[in-house]
Amino acid sequence: MDFCGTLLEWYEAHGRTLPWRGTKAPYRVWLSEVMLQQTQVAQAEGYYRRFTDACPAVEDLAAMPEDDVMRLWQGLGYYSRCRNLHRAAKQIAAHYAGGHRRLSYEEWRALPGVGDYTAAAVTSIVWGERRAAIDGNLYRVLSRVFRIDTPIDRPGSVFRDLAAALLDEGAEGMARRGWTAGEWNQAMMDLGATVCTPKSPRCADCPLEAMCLARAEGAQELLPRKASRVKVTERTLRYLIIENERGEILLHRRMGRDIWQGLWEPLEVAASHRMKPEHVVSHRLTHRLLRIEIGRGTMADVPRELTEDWRWVPREELVHYALPKPFTKVLPQE
Ligand code: SF4
Repeated sequence: MDFCGTLLEWYEAHGRTLPWRGTKAPYRVWLSEVMLQQTQVAQAEGYYRRFTDACPAVEDLAAMPEDDVMRLWQGLGYYSRCRNLHRAAKQIAAHYAGGHRRLSYEEWRALPGVGDYTAAAVTSIVWGERRAAIDGNLYRVLSRVFRIDTPIDRPGSVFRDLAAALLDEGAEGMARRGWTAGEWNQAMMDLGATVCTPKSPRCADCPLEAMCLARAEGAQELLPRKASRVKVTERTLRYLIIENERGEILLHRRMGRDIWQGLWEPLEVAASHRMKPEHVVSHRLTHRLLRIEIGRGTMADVPRELTEDWRWVPREELVHYALPKPFTKVLPQE
């Protein structure tokens, strides 16, 4: 049975309707792919609309002040993605200003925050280039259908070669039906997200069931295999909320090569600082579990020198600052 034809027929009938589907605008396709990295589709949809309303074209995003971009992104997490998005938008806009509307795969790949996956997704969806976008969905579907034991955290070129071979084999048939590698990639994403899910895959509804070796062996849930488990480390952060006599709250822009770079937060104090937390918030980042203790400080805690990275912010203006998610829950923004 033809893998590509079966997959794409299913996609035509069952593919998800998403706000970025149907567009071939490189900016919009790229934006959606950046948002979908480590973000659930339902959440990405809202943010995609928010961004495309505020910045309908890449030039609008490039021209927006970084603080406003961060503010739009607030709540999506992984803020380095946002900073890279903004830097890349500036480079794309400069490229366009030079009269070039099409970026090659290598040019996409060279942009900040764009890896093999995103470059392949954009060039295949927008221009139909024959490239597989290798992500967790593809690993899962291919490792199950072809019963591949190679650990996906050390995959070598096994999945890449197999995906390329499938696309080569299916190319003629796909072209006859008007399908490109872009549709193939989106079909793999949708199948992995809705049918061949990590837990309890819905094999009875799967178009690939008849050819799936893992299904035949009942080994679906044993695949894909991983060589190592990611170790989650714990980290405690302590903060003081300080309010002055005008009711303004002291915020500091977090810099340096650490989490939440460029975002605003209350005064962070050393882990040894004695305080009585009013709030304790747990916040999970990819490999870290943060325990955030937030207490109330006094004017005596205010650092002696407040440089430009410090601000006294009236409560009603807090909404204009990009705050890490844990603080949006505890800082009164009325
Ligand atoms: S038959 Fe089951 S395990 Fe195989 S690809 Fe389909 S959903 Fe995944």
